[in-house]
Amino acid sequence: MLIRIQGAISNCFLLRSERPVLVDAGAPGDLHRILAALRRAGITPARLALILLTHGHSDHAGCAAELRRRTGAKIALHVADAPLVRTGRNGVLAAQDPLGRLIRPFVDEPFEAFEPDLLFHEGLSFEPYGLTARILPTPGHTPGSVSLLLGGEALIGDVLRGSLVWPNRARPSFFCHDPAANTRSLIRLSREGLLRCHPGQFGSFPGTQLGRYLDPASGRLLELSEETA
Ligand SMILES: [Zn+2]
Repeated sequence: MLIRIQGAISNCFLLRSERPVLVDAGAPGDLHRILAALRRAGITPARLALILLTHGHSDHAGCAAELRRRTGAKIALHVADAPLVRTGRNGVLAAQDPLGRLIRPFVDEPFEAFEPDLLFHEGLSFEPYGLTARILPTPGHTPGSVSLLLGGEALIGDVLRGSLVWPNRARPSFFCHDPAANTRSLIRLSREGLLRCHPGQFGSFPGTQLGRYLDPASGRLLELSEETA
């Protein structure tokens, strides 16, 4: 079962499988929202098995260090994003559209630096932590971005975002470290036949939206429009 936890500017997700797993850890200041969501789900902090981060940005790793202290859960992150969380900084946030440029000063905040307990490449199994999802590296937004595949659903971090205005619609993420790599990740995800994608910002959308910005002939990313919703 998947529970979305709405933070100030991003989503975390609680997976209630064999053992509870938190996917992403909010922005700095989201701690009480996350702890309240655990309480509502009937999960005492000590039962949390794992904090798995889709990437190392401040609005996904912001409360990871404090949550580890409070729960004892281990923090897992792709090795390529370790430099971000070791410094507690986002690095360069390259805006993909005007709205990204507008909000950058407000969302680019430092967070408590930490050393992850589990640094992984492709292929590490989290089954000992009760997590049966397949972890797919989907770099581009950051070098170490990953997605979690849960049957027909996926948690995709910031590969794309949802729309501020339109339900069920995908938009390019506000920021992207390497657009060409992100396009390859979109192609990889779009081949999974996903029914539903849950992004790190705003609402979820059908898997068919993954191809919204891909040219079906070339498989390359279409020109981004100025539509910012
Ligand atoms: Zn991000």
